[in-house]
Amino acid sequence: MPEAAAPAAPPEDSPRTVLQVVGLRRTYGSVQAVDDVSFRLAEGGSLGIVGESGSGKTTTARIVVGLERADAGRVLVHGQDRTRAQRGRAARLARAREVQMVFQDPFLSLDPRTTVGAVLRETLRLHFPDGDHPRRIAELLEQVGLGSREAGALPRQLSGGQRQRVAIARALAVEPSVLVLDEAVAALDVSVQAQILNLLSDIREQTGIGYLFITHDLGVVRCVTDQVIVMRHGAIVEAGATAEVLARPQHPYTRLLLDSVPRPGWDPRGIAAARRAL
Ligand code: ADP
Ligand code: MG
Repeated sequence: MPEAAAPAAPPEDSPRTVLQVVGLRRTYGSVQAVDDVSFRLAEGGSLGIVGESGSGKTTTARIVVGLERADAGRVLVHGQDRTRAQRGRAARLARAREVQMVFQDPFLSLDPRTTVGAVLRETLRLHFPDGDHPRRIAELLEQVGLGSREAGALPRQLSGGQRQRVAIARALAVEPSVLVLDEAVAALDVSVQAQILNLLSDIREQTGIGYLFITHDLGVVRCVTDQVIVMRHGAIVEAGATAEVLARPQHPYTRLLLDSVPRPGWDPRGIAAARRAL
């Protein structure tokens, strides 16, 4: 048998991996919150994580951004191991510039006494002390569809959708490679939801940023992701291209999630029976 050739380099047109998660595990007491979760996010790609409440989505997200430790497994950003919390200010700032997170309720993450402009200025000062902050603030506001009028506003003077735009602008201010969005549109009215989802699609197109998009809503997944993983009880039960998974779900749990979306003629009793059988 001839010696095997050296493995070929990946073809030029295959997208590079920006975020890779390998064998992640986390337990809380007797609860296996995250159970051997692995996935890859391509540079500029959008990966959805779906599953019902309690399936381990938020814990996974918090481990990815370094807010929570893993019991086992690895988190790699651009191939660099980022599993351990970064020690020291410089290392923490560098980590923050790789991955940023947007939460469901921006009220909780925005200081009620700080204006929108000041929020962005603080972030820019921290990460880019020598930058042209007024120019960059104007740019960021424009990017999320806000104007100079909102720059002087406090969080309580803004609508829910506007506050989520501020949270997105603040995350973009550090120019991360990946944005982790945890139920980022779940608290918004449907029409506002659509606006924010459109905005996020535009931003991805313009900047090449990658999204890890966490939601319990399959309609949201359909809109803004190209790959999806389905989680149940902490584990991945199905993964693939979003269009494929939604059109031809392979796992009974994915089918159940799809059947649980109310529509004309929908019978919740059938869902309850299917759930008991699962
Ligand atoms: P999801 O975001 O999909 O709703 P979570 O990751 O928040 O799921 O939770 C997964 C499981 O881990 C749940 O059973 C939850 O109760 C549990 N859990 C999450 N965080 C903690 C914590 N800090 N302490 C104890 N249990 C937790
Ligand atoms: Mg959650």
